[in-house]
Amino acid sequence: MGISLADSNRLAPLRDRTPSVTTLCSHSSLQIFHGARAEGFPTLGLAVGTPPRFYDAFPLARPDRFLTVPRVKDLSGVTDQLRDVGAILIPHGSFVEYLGPEAFAALDVPVFGNRAVLGWESDRRKEREWLESAGVSMPKRFEDPSEVDGPVIVKYYGAKGGKGFFLAKNREALGDFHPTGPHVIQEYVLGTRYYMHFFYSPLSDRGYRVGHGSLELLGMDRRDEANIDELYKLGAQEELLKAGIRPTFVVTGNVPVILRESLLPKAFEVGARIIERSIELFGGMVGPFCVEGIMTEELEFKVFEISTRIVAGTNLFISGSPYSDLVAPGLSTGRRIAQEIHRARAEGRLGEVLS
Ligand code: ATP
Repeated sequence: MGISLADSNRLAPLRDRTPSVTTLCSHSSLQIFHGARAEGFPTLGLAVGTPPRFYDAFPLARPDRFLTVPRVKDLSGVTDQLRDVGAILIPHGSFVEYLGPEAFAALDVPVFGNRAVLGWESDRRKEREWLESAGVSMPKRFEDPSEVDGPVIVKYYGAKGGKGFFLAKNREALGDFHPTGPHVIQEYVLGTRYYMHFFYSPLSDRGYRVGHGSLELLGMDRRDEANIDELYKLGAQEELLKAGIRPTFVVTGNVPVILRESLLPKAFEVGARIIERSIELFGGMVGPFCVEGIMTEELEFKVFEISTRIVAGTNLFISGSPYSDLVAPGLSTGRRIAQEIHRARAEGRLGEVLS
């Protein structure tokens, strides 16, 4: 038996009813609703103002019902209604970001996954503590500009889409660094970026065994980032700066990628270490998560970030990916979430996947 994440009071509304798979209409919600419907769940879309009209264009993904609130933060005031319909909230990037990780974690409605993970993901220092103590390789972090010994990226906390991030080729190029807010100076890793979409099931007793359950790889993407991806066309950094052009990392889309098959053992090892450590630290991360890192020419994978929930890059794979097709044909991450809820209900183990 695994770890129980939710107390029975919170799960009481789900005892005798079919749960409604519920999420905020944004990010990866079309995929989540599509997957939930395929598994026979009723779906509820949370919308701010009015339900998004473009959902009408996607009949297989449109939720059965909408609940609208004037502002995102008003969701904290409709928890009674959500419990009444047997809602299970599916966290995604926009849902957690718009509401704020603390307000999200405080919602008294069953949430898919372990809400305790939000406190570890949203604090960059805690995130590093988790990953490094798991034995995962990360870009070096410099406490002081004088320690810089190569190319660096300066990241400001809360910089939406990497706006204000700053690249310097070396210590000299960093110049007299005057930070404009809380930040981190990190080794700029040269290599190729991979965003790996994993799913950890504490219920599964087959496959790639990790902790009490098993780890699945459902897809992989790379993000298109404006303007950094195309900046090379305009020439060298110094010249760009003279022209007032600074690099930004605003995600504008995603492209599918696969890893050399010989590198897959490394990918699974990283995913497994992260899960095993999460079990020790806070009872385990459950469901989808994304490991975001850079493969160097020495074939070392350095992780710069982890997203502890479904990521938008999984939208590439609504009808399956080169990896998920080898788990079950046409399997999306959204559908995998619904399958896990299904199984947990059937086996009376909802407390292990909901919090
Ligand atoms: P988001 O929350 O949208 O993922 P963020 O503000 O948390 O973004 P990061 O994900 O850490 O920022 O970084 C944004 C982008 O910067 C990455 O997608 C990658 O392109 C680049 N990047 C981040 N860290 C490094 C690094 N150490 N070396 C090279 N590039 C990096």
